Amino acid sequence: MTISHSSVDQVASEDVASEGELSECMSGLLSVMRASISVMSIVQRVYPVEGAQLDALVMHCDHARLVYNLGLEQRSWWTQSRRHFRQKINYVSQAADLTEARREFDWLRAGSTVVQQGALRDLDRAFTNFFARRAWYPTFKKRSNTRQGFVVRDLAARRVNRKWGEILVPKAGWVRFRISRAWTDICAATSARVAVTNGRWTVSLTTPPAVRKIPDTTAVVGIDRGVANSVATSDGRMFHAPGLTAGEQTRFLALQQRLARQQKGSANRERTKAKLGRLRLRLADRRGDWIEQTTTALASAYCAAAVEKLAIANRTRRAKPKPDPDRPGAFLPNGGRAKSGLNHAILSSCWGKFAQRLDHKMSVIVVSAAYTSQQCSNCGHTCPDNRDSQAVFRCQGCGFEHHADTNAAINIRDRAFIIDHQPEGMSGDRVHQSRLRAAPTTSVP
Ligand SMILES: [Zn+2]
Repeated sequence: MTISHSSVDQVASEDVASEGELSECMSGLLSVMRASISVMSIVQRVYPVEGAQLDALVMHCDHARLVYNLGLEQRSWWTQSRRHFRQKINYVSQAADLTEARREFDWLRAGSTVVQQGALRDLDRAFTNFFARRAWYPTFKKRSNTRQGFVVRDLAARRVNRKWGEILVPKAGWVRFRISRAWTDICAATSARVAVTNGRWTVSLTTPPAVRKIPDTTAVVGIDRGVANSVATSDGRMFHAPGLTAGEQTRFLALQQRLARQQKGSANRERTKAKLGRLRLRLADRRGDWIEQTTTALASAYCAAAVEKLAIANRTRRAKPKPDPDRPGAFLPNGGRAKSGLNHAILSSCWGKFAQRLDHKMSVIVVSAAYTSQQCSNCGHTCPDNRDSQAVFRCQGCGFEHHADTNAAINIRDRAFIIDHQPEGMSGDRVHQSRLRAAPTTSVP
């Protein structure tokens, strides 16, 4: 059941010769972008020993959650009016408070300092992301959350044999994991996150990203992410992310309905939750494989890619209620919407991961998503009427007709890389002023 990562490129050294073939401005751009990538993570399946070891891991999960929640509550006390009375709450002040709390409570002292401090560090990062407008305000972690985990720093790992490795977890000893990646990558890890989802334990190792293979090409690609076609490229290709099969989807919705009706805290409800969790895990595995394969295929065919920036608000939109026209104030069932909402929700997690993995494997430029679906990639005319239907784009200005998603992907590509050459089979003057204006603010030297 482990996710296959065999498709990930592991190249020992950078191919300098092929880089020389890139135009000067492009290689300059690439080196800037390469420097922006910090870390990536590799996930390995963990098999803890039943008994004391498993109990220790569960205890760490509980402590990490508790400390995170306490820290979050403490931070929520801080208000503008109290600013003058108390110093700002940050990681340093909270870590000092933790030391004090550990002195007082035996049960907290029984846990690991590393794990508990890790939870505070997680909280600090959650706030950093919130203030940088990358995430919502941090929420409390629940015991009922499907995913629980904790962080181990100053990682120690050793190899048992070809297939098995071990990591040292405080208070739990050496914990076994199945090696599915190059041992040199695992050794390079400095910290790890041990997590459990539906009884499946994993360790996510933070490592410097593998050196990217630079393909023997200067071709660039624009990528449009959508619902009907998960990924559309500027060269007209479509990639569809695997989803739940029709049967699985029906089962998923039925289970969700059953869950809603079941009494909270009952054994039956827990059983339904576990079934839903297994279905989600199966989907995540399928999607994970697809992401690895698609991003590797793109990274081997192009030297750089452009993606549009996705807003958080769009990704978490709920299905709209459907008012009943005969009975004012009443609503009709919106099952169809629930289904599309489900697809959307599942896809949204996929898109973020897709961009992240793509960024690990090749140079990626993020551009503004504004009007990419309404703008004509041929003449630059931007109008909502250009969109004939979900699939067809027909320009009201020049009559240019194309697949709507491909058109958007071309716009995304052209915003990132100002391209003079035209798509084959076109005629006339296509370099429009508006396209030049739509170019990214960080100009190519
Ligand atoms: Zn046009």
